[in-house]
Amino acid sequence: MRKKLVAGNWKMHLTLDEARELVARITENFPQPPLSDVWVAPSCPFIHPIARQTEKSFISVGAQNAHWEDSGAFTGEVSVPMLLSAGARWVILGHSERRQYFGETNEILARKVRKAVQHQMAVVYCVGENETARQTGEHFKIVEGQIREVLEGLKPEDWKRISIAYEPVWAIGTGKTATPEQAQEMHAFIRSLVEKIADSFVANNMRILYGGSVKPHNAFEIFSRPDVDGGLIGGASLKADAFSEIIRAADKTMQ
Ligand code: PEP
Repeated sequence: MRKKLVAGNWKMHLTLDEARELVARITENFPQPPLSDVWVAPSCPFIHPIARQTEKSFISVGAQNAHWEDSGAFTGEVSVPMLLSAGARWVILGHSERRQYFGETNEILARKVRKAVQHQMAVVYCVGENETARQTGEHFKIVEGQIREVLEGLKPEDWKRISIAYEPVWAIGTGKTATPEQAQEMHAFIRSLVEKIADSFVANNMRILYGGSVKPHNAFEIFSRPDVDGGLIGGASLKADAFSEIIRAADKTMQ
């Protein structure tokens, strides 16, 4: 059985004090470590302090973005070696907000993913269709392109570091959630596609997360589907109790 993963994407939210308080409260909620892996992605300046604060806990800290080069004249950007030296162990790449507002294409993301895995950093690679594509039935084609154009050609050892987050754009921050059936259908499609472009070992071991308005009340039902291995959580990851309940829902699916 694949171990569930619950990852919080804090986006551009929380001051340092608020971030410190949030992780303190999440760890207090679990006197015994959860069964699921728990990851959080603070904003870049807070990766180091939050990684220090959580280093003896069950929480693993990651980044929300990374550049495709190790260093250079790229004002305002942050590289994978910098993130690793600050304590980040993983990175979200391809989030729809990065694609939409910062022009990140599959080509750019292919370079970013390769740079991360070159440095042994784990990647949560996000894919997902917009509302029009869902309505016109093109969602499988869109997701297939996002996966093939970015992940095809990775070496077998690199695949181990990849998780895919299926995040239908129409469900992110909207309160609309894919039904558990829609999530399962897409996750099964993604797993069979990964089997084709990598192999069945990679596909069976890869964690495929669902993201898009996961909340305490719907987490268990979604995470119970056979190909849903946890969630990438936005809004609900900013509240210690809600995030903790989502972690408990993930744990419950493994008991
Ligand atoms: C996200 O941004 O990755 C996300 C899933 O957000 P929310 O949970 O708020 O929909």
